[in-house]
Order: sequence, then structure tokens, then C-alpha cells
Amino acid sequence: MKTAVLKAGGEIRLHEPVERIEIENGRATGVRTPSGLIRADAVVLAAGAWSSQIKGVPYEAVPPVYPVKGEVLVLAPPPGAGMPKLLIWGCGIYLVPRHEGLLVGATVEHAGYDLSSTKAAKDWLLRQARALMPALETWRVSDHRVGLRPASPDGMPILGASAVDGLFIRERPVSQRHLVCSSCGRRSVPSRSGTGFGRAFFRSQAVFGGRCGCKAGLGYCAWNALRLRSV
Ligand SMILES: Cc1cc2nc3c(=O)[nH]c(=O)nc-3n(C[C@H](O)[C@H](O)[C@H](O)COP(=O)(O)OP(=O)(O)OC[C@H]3O[C@@H](n4cnc5c(N)ncnc54)[C@H](O)[C@@H]3O)c2cc1C
Repeated sequence: MKTAVLKAGGEIRLHEPVERIEIENGRATGVRTPSGLIRADAVVLAAGAWSSQIKGVPYEAVPPVYPVKGEVLVLAPPPGAGMPKLLIWGCGIYLVPRHEGLLVGATVEHAGYDLSSTKAAKDWLLRQARALMPALETWRVSDHRVGLRPASPDGMPILGASAVDGLFIRERPVSQRHLVCSSCGRRSVPSRSGTGFGRAFFRSQAVFGGRCGCKAGLGYCAWNALRLRSV
């Protein structure tokens, strides 16, 4: 999205929270931030797990997303130990080599907007990681992070038009078992060795639009929020 905005001549304003989306005569006309009203022909709501919390959106257009808490650990190797070269998947977790260390992810908890880290999650992640790769017994926990994933009722992306003219939704839920292309919604379960679609996913370390080869975009109606009215 950042790339698309910059390419279209847009400006990114960091640390400027949207206080509300302005709707006039049934149409989205802009967003209000602490520095004032920013008028727009179209508004894209892409606030992840917080998208349903943004004020001003009429009930029928609020995306039905909710937070799923995830805790991850970063492990630092002892001197002389080598980092795995590939993603390792098993025992309900994954190990991802990153420049800052070996990422162990992730818990899946329904805990609202709670962002606190827990000893129980840390212990579980360490236990599973060591079951999967016993050499990790001597690795040190260098970081313990908590985040909120957006989830949707059917686990699939919400992309495109909403019940309000000019208001578009861009939500890309991530589940540990199903990697979902944010454009076409195609799912893939990566193999342990990380082949094909799964490997592309973990190389990019981002949910990607179009990398699975699809030609879908934000306007692709199969994934818009209107399908969830009956869910
Ligand atoms: C433990 C864990 C592991 C994950 N692993 C992966 C992975 O391996 N691969 C992957 O692709 N994804 C992964 N994700 C998910 C990924 O980090 C994103 O959360 C997810 O892809 C959704 O992206 P998003 O841009 O929709 O939402 P987010 O990344 O959550 O971004 C939403 C942004 O909106 C901002 N925002 C909220 N409210 C407002 C407001 N009022 N005004 C302005 N800005 C606002 C938030 O601060 C946030 O920066 C993981 C998430 C977690 C928690």
C-alpha cells in the first residue's frame, strides 16, 4: 500500500492517528486527524485489528474484524552455533531465521486488545521450539514480542467496496495454517521445506498481493465486506 500511495504522488503521515472517518450524505469524504480534516474522494480503511474501532463508520460498513493476539520470541545463538538457513515448521510453531535472531512464532490467543506478554506463552514457545530443534536448549531469549493480527469471520481477506460509497476496506487476516494471498485469497499450507507458494511467502515475510500469480486487486468483489453480511 505504501508503494502504491507514493507511486500515485501521495504523502505518508506517520504518527498521525485517524480520529474518525467523515461521512456526508452516505459517502466517505475524508478523515479527521489531530491536525484537522483531510478531504478525499475515497478512503481506504486498513487499520488491521483496529479497523472496527475507527469512529464515524456507520454500523453496516464497519468491517467485522477482531484481534487475535500473537506472542513471538527471538532467540540468540550461543557463540559458534549456526542459524538455520530455512524456515522450519512443526510442533505447532515455526522457526524463522532473521537478522536479529531466530524468530519462534507464534501463539494464537483471543484476548481482545491486550498487548501484554505472558510467561505462559514464553514457556510454551520455548518448549515447542526445543522439541522441534533440541539444539535450541542453549539459545538465549533476546526478545519477546506481542502483536495483534486482524481476523475475519470466515478467515479470508476483506478487500474492496463497503456499504458506504467511497469507503473501501483492506484487511488481510493471517492464520498460521493458511497463508492467504491478500489479493485473490488463494490459500497455501507450506511444507516443512517451504516450497512454492509457501517459500515465496516466507522469503517476503509479508502477506503479498499478486505474488501467487493472481491478477486480483482491491476492487475484486469476491472478497469485499458485503459477502460477510450473512456470516
Ligand atoms: C505474532 C504475529 C505473527 C505474524 N506473522 C506474520 C507473518 O509471518 N507474515 C505476515 O505476512 N504477517 C504476519 N503477521 C501479521 C502482520 O504482522 C499483520 O498484522 C497482518 O498482515 C495485517 O496487516 P495489516 O496491515 O492489515 O495490519 P497491521 O500490520 O496491524 O497494520 C495496521 C496499522 O494501522 C494502524 N492504526 C490502527 N488504528 C489507527 C488509527 N486510528 N489511525 C491511524 N493508524 C491506525 C496500526 O498502528 C497499524 O500500524 C503476524 C502477526 C502477529 C501478531
